[in-house]
Amino acid sequence: MRIANLAGRLVLVTDAGAVDVETASAGRFSADPQAVYPRWAEFTAWAETAPLEQARPVDATALGAPAPTPAQVFGIGLNYRDHAAEAGFALPDSPTVFTKFVSCLTGPEGEIPLAGPTVDWEIELVVVIGKLARHVAAEDGWDHVAGLTVGQDLSERTVQTAGPAPQFSLGKSFPRFGPIGPYLVTPDEFEDRDDIVLGCAVNGESVQKGRTSDLIFSVPRLVAELSAVLPLLPGDVIFTGTPAGVGVARDPKRFLAVGDELVSTIDGIGSMHHRFVPA
Ligand code: ZN
Repeated sequence: MRIANLAGRLVLVTDAGAVDVETASAGRFSADPQAVYPRWAEFTAWAETAPLEQARPVDATALGAPAPTPAQVFGIGLNYRDHAAEAGFALPDSPTVFTKFVSCLTGPEGEIPLAGPTVDWEIELVVVIGKLARHVAAEDGWDHVAGLTVGQDLSERTVQTAGPAPQFSLGKSFPRFGPIGPYLVTPDEFEDRDDIVLGCAVNGESVQKGRTSDLIFSVPRLVAELSAVLPLLPGDVIFTGTPAGVGVARDPKRFLAVGDELVSTIDGIGSMHHRFVPA
């Protein structure tokens, strides 16, 4: 199953187009995309037999973030071996965790203000939680995942690394620095949910290509590690880390410029398209 946020309303996405959930469920489920996650099991059961006659074409420019207002947003740093190596760090033995403040979340299409001279791309698989997770074992981690979507963990590197004890979160939270979408896809839709191909391109040139089988901390392991410390709430968002190929690790370094087009793609989910404009 795939869902989306279409013009602020929760829709089921079928081969025939988008079906408005509030209308098709006669009001049983809210139009608010974020409100579905605390009722995820009930919703997925309903969706299996939902009336789909009212499908209409999806206007991609009207798509918003599939989880637009989560209680918590987690970012995981250094979670691919090749990226940890290019960044000059040893492999972590526990996840490196920061937040992207929730106000930076945005949809999968449109313009992003270039907040500084050292803004970098980070394609990431994004997880949305579908069931309260507290002290979950790794083997049960996937049971707590509603679905997967595409994300960019956009990062202003100078701000991210400023100060004697750098805190990543602000440099990764400028307005629209957390685009996610275009759809939330349930894990059962993937041939292998633990081996998903992701990548991004700047002005048509591929800059990152990876697969989630190379994650140091897999999706279920992240659910275990995070839920050992705090509860993961339905609708929470986890940016799971980026593979090699970021601009700051290049020689010479390369950063995003006004006018650049960034296309971010995950096989089995879809693509996001963003253009950078003056801040
Ligand atoms: Zn990241």
